[in-house]
Amino acid sequence: MSGPDDRTSRVLARDVRAGARLMRDLDDRIPAALAELKELYAHTGRAFVVGVTGNPGVGKSTIVDGLIASYRAEGLRVGVVAVDPTSPFTGGAILGDRIRMQQHALDPGVFIRSLATRGRLGGLSRSTFDVALVLDAMGHDIVLIETVGVGQDEIDVMRAAHTTVVITVPGLGDDIQAIKAGILEVADVLVVNKADREGADRAVRDLMHMLELRDHEGGRRDVEIVKTIAARGRREGSGLADLLAAIAGHRERMSAGAEGQRRAEARAAAHVGELVKELLADRAAEGLRALGGLGEIGQLVAARTRDPYTAAEEIVRLV
Ligand code: GDP
Repeated sequence: MSGPDDRTSRVLARDVRAGARLMRDLDDRIPAALAELKELYAHTGRAFVVGVTGNPGVGKSTIVDGLIASYRAEGLRVGVVAVDPTSPFTGGAILGDRIRMQQHALDPGVFIRSLATRGRLGGLSRSTFDVALVLDAMGHDIVLIETVGVGQDEIDVMRAAHTTVVITVPGLGDDIQAIKAGILEVADVLVVNKADREGADRAVRDLMHMLELRDHEGGRRDVEIVKTIAARGRREGSGLADLLAAIAGHRERMSAGAEGQRRAEARAAAHVGELVKELLADRAAEGLRALGGLGEIGQLVAARTRDPYTAAEEIVRLV
């Protein structure tokens, strides 16, 4: 029987099956898998992690597809984490079925893993960190994290990335307002895709204006805006080369300065924070089970014998 130690070395030796199984076991929260991840951690930190987010239909898959092809053409190995917070399934079914995934399915230099909530609230960000680490340990040079940009979950997921690409399209005035809300905070490169449509230049101007406003509010770092026509693939004029250059430029700036170090530490801290939240939530759930649930407390609180605030504090002290 092969123990976890064997699998750790197989993962480091780029064994695809070992990596896939480790990811599955991590997803199932099998303790031995966590022990392996702890061991692997020292061997990570080499992959460059790029987050790609945007609302459904803006062209994320098409762009990620183009990025994979470009990085592969440079001889780089690419891992992809496709995060879909709206999907209850996991393990490669939903996003993995997309045509572009099939296009790369036979390429041993590309490893794609889909993640979904599986009915669990939260935890997606933690799983993203886990999978990105395994992909890193497996020797992928680039890890692409693709997620649908709809809410806080995605912003949390993006904290695992070195460089974050936020995609929008022309003619979505309200959409740009929505981007303003939070996702702009994490954007390093802004893409106006579908630049073959009317209003692309206007969208660029709107985004620039928003960035300037941010600047005035203080502390906004430089963000590049790139126009793409992703559907044109790698042909001339698709803008993909500009996007690659913008990503590379950001990477370069980050690797040189103190900002890069600051962000590495922020990423690590965000990771630890996710794990702490999860450990505490697990402990609370266990404690509640040990206490026999909340039934009796419900009676006390409903009868106004106790207030809910004190009851919650008491329980937390017990668990
Ligand atoms: P996602 O939901 O964000 O992953 O978007 P997809 O990559 O699946 O793209 C949604 C649709 O937009 C597809 O039909 C693409 O072919 C199309 N599309 C992607 N990029 C462009 C573009 O630059 N211009 C135009 N006109 N269509 C595009």
